[in-house]
Amino acid sequence: MDYEGQICRAPMERASFMLPVMVGCSYNRCKFCNLFRHLAYRELPLEQIEEELKRVKAAGGNPKKIFLGDGNAFGLKTERLLRILERVHAYFPECMCINMDATVTSIRMKSDQELKLLYDHGVRHLYLGIESGLDDVLIFMEKDHDLAQAYEAVERLKRTGLIYDAHIMTGVAGKGRGQENAEALALFLNRTKPAHAVNFSMFLHREVPLYRHIEDGTYLPADELENLKEERTLLKLLETELLYDGFHDYIEVRVRGEIPRGKEKMVKKLDQVIGTYEGGKALYSFVRGECPDLTRCGSGDCGGKHISEKVWDMNRKDDR
Ligand code: SF4
Repeated sequence: MDYEGQICRAPMERASFMLPVMVGCSYNRCKFCNLFRHLAYRELPLEQIEEELKRVKAAGGNPKKIFLGDGNAFGLKTERLLRILERVHAYFPECMCINMDATVTSIRMKSDQELKLLYDHGVRHLYLGIESGLDDVLIFMEKDHDLAQAYEAVERLKRTGLIYDAHIMTGVAGKGRGQENAEALALFLNRTKPAHAVNFSMFLHREVPLYRHIEDGTYLPADELENLKEERTLLKLLETELLYDGFHDYIEVRVRGEIPRGKEKMVKKLDQVIGTYEGGKALYSFVRGECPDLTRCGSGDCGGKHISEKVWDMNRKDDR
């Protein structure tokens, strides 16, 4: 099957067979996200999905773990998901771990019976874009949920046996709010207890609505040093058992390990990295282009020529 879009999934899914069931994201409105912005959302025909299953089977594949793509596969109607799951089981009867991305709303739109039915058909991990622990940030970023809805959705899916994993984003709360967000997020994660927490620290894409806010000064971005400090506070405050994986791709820093066992080691690594940036020039994660072919802008490789002068000036003023 020709894949349309950008492959983006949690690192725990890198060995899964990725089966696209849609193109793009049915929501596609989060202000910071450029993953599927250029694509018109559509569901893939069942025949096309089945062709892909047939192809993998004919090639000798026997996946034990399948990831349904793309942006929000759990947003498909239950009936359609069940038809896809039935086809998966017809080709790969041993596969009882079918995972996908989900939004809080996609869970809220399903009844408890539907959640249970999907579990019974092999759905296991749902990766939820939680992003922030602060309601005003969720509203500003046009996430499709608030915290109360997220608490309720997580509780409901866990009751059915589905496994909840959290996607979070350091930097999302903006300049000067990293610590506040870390504390709020730690509270949320300690209460909701995800199996995994994956931090894709925020890129500042030139092509997304958030960039207009940066230009007009209604959103002040945090720099990479603040993001690292936010992550350090979050890790220190996490008390629940989980697997943590944090990516600061702009500065090529990754921190991963088990909480609580590996907490000290991760914090130590962050201390070291923070030490190398402390007192230096403020570095912002401005990028342009489509994932995964992103070009660094601003304080990065292009010396600022790909972002507006206004934003570039703002960064220079903010240099330490
Ligand atoms: S962050 Fe997730 S839900 Fe939001 S637009 Fe991007 S893919 Fe869709």
